[in-house]
Amino acid sequence: MKVVKKDYADKRRRMVDEQIRGRGVRDERVLQAMEGVERHRFVPERMKECAYFDEALSIGEGQTISQPYMVALMSECLELRGDESVLEVGTGSGYQAAVLSCLAREVYSVERVERLFLQSRERLEMLGYRNVHVVYGDGSRGYEKEAPYDRIIVTAAGSKVPDKLLGQLKEGGILLMPVGGAFMQKLLKIRKVKGKVLEECVTYCVFVGLVEGSKRN
Ligand code: SAH
Repeated sequence: MKVVKKDYADKRRRMVDEQIRGRGVRDERVLQAMEGVERHRFVPERMKECAYFDEALSIGEGQTISQPYMVALMSECLELRGDESVLEVGTGSGYQAAVLSCLAREVYSVERVERLFLQSRERLEMLGYRNVHVVYGDGSRGYEKEAPYDRIIVTAAGSKVPDKLLGQLKEGGILLMPVGGAFMQKLLKIRKVKGKVLEECVTYCVFVGLVEGSKRN
């Protein structure tokens, strides 16, 4: 049986109620964005039926689209009001970038795997997310061209926050990154206040690794 647009909208509403609002995400703009962005368009064709499941899904190249709750939680942690410039490291499917594009002014998203970069750039363009700019390269070095940023979100895990990224964060800005080992990390929320770095652990999480270095930059 063919799943029509309305069925996906129903699944999405349920996803927001049960997985996201139900687990304590309260920012109305985030809840609205999660209800608006068609997650099934960001997963491989054969996985469309699983798009609204409470889990991360494989998108090929050994990479994943994060669990919906994690995308919502990270978006809420960024405390976006709508006029910010955001850097994302790890575009993957482009889903987190699409959610951020509903919450901020401009989103720059860097991806080091060429196939994922090309695919997500085309996808986001086709779906009309005009304020997302997908960049090919090593995001562990940030993206100097549009720096500094109000917010930086790293959606891959590393053993520490790269200095280059901290350097591209504005005073008063927030940086989020999973930091730890390969199998479990702390999701760190870092605030730059008067040049100092204040750090808190939001939760524990499991992300694929941040790989440093690429052919391009
Ligand atoms: N935010 C994504 C999920 C990220 S999965 C989504 O919404 O679908 C992590 C991604 O980070 C993968 O696509 C991986 O290729 C990418 N990545 C890993 N190291 C990177 C680096 N140094 N620079 C840019 N992207 C990187």
